[in-house]
Amino acid sequence: MAEKKQFKTETKKLLDMMINSIYTHKEIFLRELISNASDAIDKRHYLSLTDEKIPTADYEIKVEADKDNRTITITDNGVGMTLEELENNLGTIAKSGSKEFLEKVANEKTPDVDIIGQFGVGFYSAFMVAKSVKVETKSVQDGKSHVFESDGLESYTVDDSDYNEYGSKITLYLRDNTEDDKYDDYLDEYTIKDLIKKYSDYVRYPIKTWVTKYDPKDDKDDKDSEPKTHLELETVNSMLPIWKKNKSEVTDEELNNFYKAKFMDWQDPLASIFVNVEGMLTYNALLFIPKKAPFDMYGDKNDRGLQLYTKGVFILDKCKDLIPEYLRFVKGLVDSADLPLNISREMLQEDKAIKKIASNVEKKILAELSRMLKNDRAKYEEFFSYYGLNLKFGLYENYGAKKDLLKDLIIMKSLKEDKLITFEEYVNNMKEGQKEIYYATGKSKEAVLALPQMDLVKSKDYDVLLLSDDVDEFMIQILKNYNDKAFKSVNNDDLNLVDEEEAKKIDELKEEKKDFLAAVKDSIPGVKDVVLSKKLKDAPCCVTADGGLTFEMERVLRAQNNKDVKAERIFELNPNHPVFAKLEGLKVADNDAFKKYTNVLYNEALLQEGILPDDPKAFADILNELIMK
Ligand code: ADP
Repeated sequence: MAEKKQFKTETKKLLDMMINSIYTHKEIFLRELISNASDAIDKRHYLSLTDEKIPTADYEIKVEADKDNRTITITDNGVGMTLEELENNLGTIAKSGSKEFLEKVANEKTPDVDIIGQFGVGFYSAFMVAKSVKVETKSVQDGKSHVFESDGLESYTVDDSDYNEYGSKITLYLRDNTEDDKYDDYLDEYTIKDLIKKYSDYVRYPIKTWVTKYDPKDDKDDKDSEPKTHLELETVNSMLPIWKKNKSEVTDEELNNFYKAKFMDWQDPLASIFVNVEGMLTYNALLFIPKKAPFDMYGDKNDRGLQLYTKGVFILDKCKDLIPEYLRFVKGLVDSADLPLNISREMLQEDKAIKKIASNVEKKILAELSRMLKNDRAKYEEFFSYYGLNLKFGLYENYGAKKDLLKDLIIMKSLKEDKLITFEEYVNNMKEGQKEIYYATGKSKEAVLALPQMDLVKSKDYDVLLLSDDVDEFMIQILKNYNDKAFKSVNNDDLNLVDEEEAKKIDELKEEKKDFLAAVKDSIPGVKDVVLSKKLKDAPCCVTADGGLTFEMERVLRAQNNKDVKAERIFELNPNHPVFAKLEGLKVADNDAFKKYTNVLYNEALLQEGILPDDPKAFADILNELIMK
């Protein structure tokens, strides 16, 4: 007896979208079903390698159209599904891509259906063209046959079946033609052939369909009669994996189509990398940088990895041992002849060949990026806008183990040139006499330009790198220097920009002003020290951070919930500024006013650094009192 079951709400939602879809590329249903069929064969083949009870077969996928009954069937001799699998896989949404798709469109009244293709919603895409779908299947695992049927609306039925081939047969009962959609087109032999070629050419199993062949004319035939024809089951796809071909024989268009079909993207990749290595270790790799970062790039940590094939047989998906964490955005595959077919994820970690391949793959990707940076700056900047943060993390991670590999791939905003430049470009454009690389942090270019510490830098016409990402300052501290040029923070470091005589004068004054500076310090709660500054020109004072933990780091760490992190605050005074003399006078004449003014100055300096006063209420009270005076 057929058992009737309700679809879960989420599934219903997805189905509803498929059925009512005005998506223009409904034809992708065939790609999705063929890809499922190919996966099913992969699974059967893989099982047969490790379990002798599972028989192998002459693997194939058949696509057949029946014009009279208006059906299309896709038949594979893969693993098939057990009853439980049927229900779990087809009755509910198992696939993360479909879930993501639903989440994405959940809040949109009229979702942009064109993004369906971006997600590859798999089996359910059948309902874009079919009013009902039947799945007959026999599992190689338990040898039992079942049938699933649904009109994709509310419910589905499952039942025992006498289907007697291992694998699955999906029958689509096409919807009625409408003015906009002529579903009958999908029954056409040429349409089917084209779709297979277009989307599924590299599927490694033969995809067969019935094609019309013309019979040769023999003498008895009337010369003018219609030629006789018969149908033959023909393999349509070329099967030879694209990565096994000679690099020079593969066009960009082929590569792009392969990428889009295999990795479910609707856009061409930003870059493709073709690797052919022969020698001690023989392998091919095909790597792609997607044009746009995926939604979940920083989501699930385990989601990265390349596909692994050995001798053209698919082994494992998402092998993270093949690619370092910071290159998690790279998609692709590695096919090696030097790995056993039954390699497991655990063995991978220890495998020397895998380590070597991974290290080569990493180098190839970085070399390609380096080429892009040199030859196509606009493209590199586009790349960096999506993935620059990954490279920065890569540089910062593991105490900078990869810094030499990555430092020349970083680009940062130049204050003077108002564009992104490399460290090398910064160094090449350094002014005569400039010994160090200057960088600054601040909310914006304007905020940095307005820093009191910038006056001297501007007067020398030195360039400054503007830090933008949270990781930037951490990364720079790991780098320490670039080609012997130390990185110096405009915000915090002494840049030795005052001239020698001036510096000497300030050093001498230090002793003389000792008591005064101590009094300033006593008047400001929370300040670590008060010093005479060598960083200032036009401004009376500034605040800097001492001891390695900067204000920027304080901000970043606090945002990550480390609420108690506090950079040590140094209040720096400009002894040449009239405000300095004014304070000295007040100290003698009106100690109370002296204390208030030092606090105002200190808080104002904090604000210029982009930091709120430690105690905004106390700051407001002081200002109010001064106004009333
Ligand atoms: P995806 O294939 O991306 O996981 P689908 O919705 O297309 O998502 O399919 C859900 C699951 O149903 C698959 O993961 C697979 O386990 C199973 N499945 C689909 N088609 C077949 C098939 N032809 N043979 C065996 N299993 C299949």
